[in-house]
Amino acid sequence: MRKPVIAGNWKMYKTLGEAVDTVLALKPLVANANHCEVVVAPVFTALKVVADRLEGSNIGVAGQNCSTEVEEGAHTGEVAAFMLRDVGARYVIVGHSERRQHYFETDTMVNKKCHAGFAADLNVILCVGESLAQRDRGVAEQVVNGQLSGGLNGLTASDLDRIIIAYEPVWAIGTGRTATPEQAQEMHAFIRRVFADRYSDQAASNLRIIYGGSVKPDNIAGLMSQTDIDGALVGGASLQAESFAKIVNYK
Ligand code: PEP
Repeated sequence: MRKPVIAGNWKMYKTLGEAVDTVLALKPLVANANHCEVVVAPVFTALKVVADRLEGSNIGVAGQNCSTEVEEGAHTGEVAAFMLRDVGARYVIVGHSERRQHYFETDTMVNKKCHAGFAADLNVILCVGESLAQRDRGVAEQVVNGQLSGGLNGLTASDLDRIIIAYEPVWAIGTGRTATPEQAQEMHAFIRRVFADRYSDQAASNLRIIYGGSVKPDNIAGLMSQTDIDGALVGGASLQAESFAKIVNYK
């Protein structure tokens, strides 16, 4: 049985005080959510305090990004995966489409970040997804396959236990335009087949594949009813404790 993951990506929102207020409001609202792993991803500057406030709760903390570099060193502005772990993060998001689009992250960089995350004993949420133009050209699966091949290069069997794939069609992120449950299911099933071909049937059936793109309280249940959808990566609707809690408590 795959345990669903519902993760809130706060992007570059919330001061430290606002981040703390949000998790303090969220904690009691999701305290009985044993059916899934609940994760929040605050900005780096709020990670430590948020992780401290969540200690002993059922909410885990993620970094939104990490350096391609594994070791400390002269890399101004970078934060290493092991530093995220050091302040209480247990997950890291890599390859988010906003980083690929606006910060020119390549599959090679994303792959290094995956390896850095595993070396730091973090669960890695690897984001993949096609643009609208690519979907319209009929190359969505080809694009996702390429992102998976590039991002997963050199992964070992033990890394597979700690990888979560987030399928986030770029056209659905922050646009209010969600993929239909059937469209999402189709791509999730494709991703699972890629894992079966690349690794094994067992690895594919254990893999958690979460959907991201305008997930809201009123569409989560439909998405979660699909066989291959194992959770959600939620942007905008995760910023308010109440709406994120409704998504977590979709059952
Ligand atoms: C995201 O940032 O990963 C995301 C899916 O955002 P939104 O839910 O706002 O579309």
